Amino acid sequence: MANRKQSAKNVGGKIIPYGTQSIDASDVVAVSRTLKSGWLTQGPAVLLFEQLLQKFTGARHTIAVSNGTVALHIAYITAGITKGDEVIIPANTFAATANMVLALGGTPVFCDIRTDTYNIDEKKIERLITNKTKAIVPVHYAGAPCEMDTIHKIAQKHNLIVIEDACHALGAEYKGVKVGNLKSDMAVFSFHPVKILTTGEGGAVLTNNAEYARRLKRLRSHGIERTPDGFNHMIELGFNYRLTDIQSSLGASQMKRIKLFLKRRRSVATSYAKLFKNKKIMLPSVAPGTLSAWHLYPIVLPKSVASKRGEIMRKLRERGIGTQVHYPPVYLHPYYKKLGYKEGLCPVAEDFGRRELSIPMFADLTHAEQKKVVCELETIIQELR
Ligand SMILES: *Cc1c(COP(=O)(O)O)cnc(C)c1O
Repeated sequence: MANRKQSAKNVGGKIIPYGTQSIDASDVVAVSRTLKSGWLTQGPAVLLFEQLLQKFTGARHTIAVSNGTVALHIAYITAGITKGDEVIIPANTFAATANMVLALGGTPVFCDIRTDTYNIDEKKIERLITNKTKAIVPVHYAGAPCEMDTIHKIAQKHNLIVIEDACHALGAEYKGVKVGNLKSDMAVFSFHPVKILTTGEGGAVLTNNAEYARRLKRLRSHGIERTPDGFNHMIELGFNYRLTDIQSSLGASQMKRIKLFLKRRRSVATSYAKLFKNKKIMLPSVAPGTLSAWHLYPIVLPKSVASKRGEIMRKLRERGIGTQVHYPPVYLHPYYKKLGYKEGLCPVAEDFGRRELSIPMFADLTHAEQKKVVCELETIIQELR
């Protein structure tokens, strides 16, 4: 994603992207040190990065992998998801959450979303459960935690596994506990540059279950386990989903600033809430008892201009402001439509998907940039009506 300098070339001026990484001199030093260390593949830096994630979240085990998508893949395998199984997923997520279910021969069953946090509507989960349901995958959309107590109760009652797609939510908190340590079976993170913290590409599975951790590590490395006498045995079909030490040294360096990143994102959210004057634009809200990590700042456009979202995005771009849509419901992607999913399945998510706009949200966004975003957006909307 958008390296700021790269995107600047597109318009011949400085563009404010919807999201981007925060890299400083200490990151450069950390990566250079690894490059000179002689150890580039999975080694001491991966271990350090994993330990820092554990310490930060409180989770007992961390398995760092190449990206968030493969983190989902091995988490789903570990959950036992296989051909014929159904997995309940919110309609409002990135395709990968559902794609990895398909990759295992399973069926994503899409659940509609709440009108406040745009997270999975926990009240609509139970009606989707059948004797084929294996797992629930709540996604902490934009970094705001789902209603996990209710979801855990439902899962317990129906004997289902809970895997959180926490790709947006490193540092988010639910009732004082960090996401990654919330009594779910596993939680999956991504370290893509637009996410809270980056390793270039990268991901991790966090779990408090030692058996799961052992299997996840095995799946990360060809399904191979090493016996105490040093022999490698391939126990099951696995992959090479390892993260490198180069990437992990960047991750470990970034972890030193994770609290700062979160503080800045939270202050950006607070400022937006103060800057917006047009009451018809719906601003994101966070449920009581939770803290968002603010991966995204998803606004909902007024109904009157929703059909002109493309035009609004184009005009913003002309004025140096990048935006993105997160997300049209997964099942409305052409591939899913071909599988037989139909429009009308999740009406709340469909309405949201038509009107949502992610405006710039990242740690280094300045107050002046925020003012520009709000001013230009409100002007464009005003002009359209
Ligand atoms: C980013 C993301 C993923 C995939 O992560 P990658 O590291 O890009 O593979 C999965 N789910 C959600 C909700 C995401 O935002």
